[in-house]
Amino acid sequence: MHMKSSWIRHAFFHLLYPHNCIGCGSDVISDENFLCLKCINDLPYTHYESHAGNPVEKKFWGRIPVTAAMSEFYFSKKSIVQNFIHELKYNGNKDAAHYFGNIMGKSLLENNRFNIDVIVPLPLFEKKEKMRGYNQAEILCNGISEILDKPVVRKNVIRKVSTETQTKKHRTERWKNVEKTFQVLDASLLEGKNILLVDDVITTGATIEACGAEILKIKNIKLYIASLAIATK
Ligand SMILES: [Zn+2]
Repeated sequence: MHMKSSWIRHAFFHLLYPHNCIGCGSDVISDENFLCLKCINDLPYTHYESHAGNPVEKKFWGRIPVTAAMSEFYFSKKSIVQNFIHELKYNGNKDAAHYFGNIMGKSLLENNRFNIDVIVPLPLFEKKEKMRGYNQAEILCNGISEILDKPVVRKNVIRKVSTETQTKKHRTERWKNVEKTFQVLDASLLEGKNILLVDDVITTGATIEACGAEILKIKNIKLYIASLAIATK
């Protein structure tokens, strides 16, 4: 009887909160995980964290001085990574974002190239964050923070204008638009620190470059960059 009622409760819970793999949609997953075993085995890790001069770092060469940068996964169209990033950004799956933040934290921790004091999420435009209810980069930061045991500095670097509509413009034109997009409210909170700037997906790198350029105006800091995924052609 007891077993039966717990099974019913479990089935009911499952109905209320459908628990499917966020990579492929299969429902064969455990309660703790967000991915099925097949997707876990197929995750396209870059292992960039251990490679100086990796493609993320190269993106910023000649643009801004970045001490080290990494992306956890390769992003490609119609991949499991695209599916779970969609889940984090548009389906409000904060638990999954936290889980992927933990994965990033472990990669950073296992590597001595990343000597981090504080973690800063790439900010969303305030109105956009209100509409979405959260900033997915901030949830990734929470997951990273839990593993590195370093604080997340929130709402200190802000985004003053939305740049979403600029994505189809030419790179230099786009740069003019993102240049004045970000602002650091209280530089003293970040002075002298090794700062990890975190975003979900890096494509051209223009947005993170603009935000990084603003952060680099703070005295005596080192800038590190991490994203959940990198889009490669
Ligand atoms: Zn799956």
